[in-house]
Amino acid sequence: MRKILHVELLAHTPDAEDIVFAAFRQCYSSGFVMDTVVQPRRAGKISAEEREHFLQNVLMMGHASPLEHVSFTFAIEGISRACSHQLIRHRIASYSQQSQRYCAEGEELDYILPPSIARDEEAKRLYEAFMRQAGETYARLRERMQKSGCKRESANEDARFVLPNAAETKLVATFNARSLLHFLQLRCCSRAQWEIRALARRMGQWVQNISPTLFSHAGPSCEQWGVCFESPAFSCGRKPPFQPPKTEKPDGE
Ligand SMILES: Cc1cc2nc3c(=O)[nH]c(=O)nc-3n(C[C@H](O)[C@H](O)[C@H](O)COP(=O)(O)OP(=O)(O)OC[C@H]3O[C@@H](n4cnc5c(N)ncnc54)[C@H](O)[C@@H]3O)c2cc1C
Repeated sequence: MRKILHVELLAHTPDAEDIVFAAFRQCYSSGFVMDTVVQPRRAGKISAEEREHFLQNVLMMGHASPLEHVSFTFAIEGISRACSHQLIRHRIASYSQQSQRYCAEGEELDYILPPSIARDEEAKRLYEAFMRQAGETYARLRERMQKSGCKRESANEDARFVLPNAAETKLVATFNARSLLHFLQLRCCSRAQWEIRALARRMGQWVQNISPTLFSHAGPSCEQWGVCFESPAFSCGRKPPFQPPKTEKPDGE
């Protein structure tokens, strides 16, 4: 059965912007942050505008470690294994993904249909026929292996070798804000593959609602910094490419 992307924000650090603000301010405060920031903020002596102004300034400086104190947990379904493989390459995050050993597919395989194939009737027909066949072969293999004495998990783990990259998966992922900004920079870019880009955009929308200041510039580097870090050959051309500063040659060369 065809599945579509579904992303929920399952949990997040409460008062994330206050926590990042306190962590930043502790770096530049000779006093204890509880006295200089947390209590005054709770008492309304530091306004949300003041906090936002401070955060906007330090975020532009690249001093990013205070962003690691807050995290966001997403429940994700309706992505392909091709997409989840790209997602889990982001090592500074935690993942719990549906097991293909303990969870068997039904005979009707759950899969993702790429939009380019959905638009082309003949391509869609070929694709869906293959998904049906992959699902049937998988089910027959499982059944046969179980009949010949394999345990259920063993049958699942070997029958899954015939499942395509398109097979749908579900997972829970937790990112801290620093890692999430990095993820959004890479994966909201038009260079990223369409499915992980759609996922990243949805995740970005969730966190922009929760922490609008922390994520006010979330997205590709062209939107964050006004420059493109892709090589000119790959850049979409929307913004000028990043030019590294020219370095002087040392004396004698
Ligand atoms: C458009 C695009 C195309 C891609 N194509 C390919 C491809 O063809 N083949 C392929 O294999 N991958 C590809 N990737 C994946 C890419 O190489 C990264 O693995 C992925 O984007 C995760 O990024 P990351 O390592 O920066 O993130 P994370 O793993 O979350 O790491 C975040 C940051 O932590 C630091 N870090 C983490 N681990 C280490 C470490 N071991 N040593 C030093 N520093 C570390 C780095 O600064 C890193 O940027 C592609 C990614 C994109 C966006």
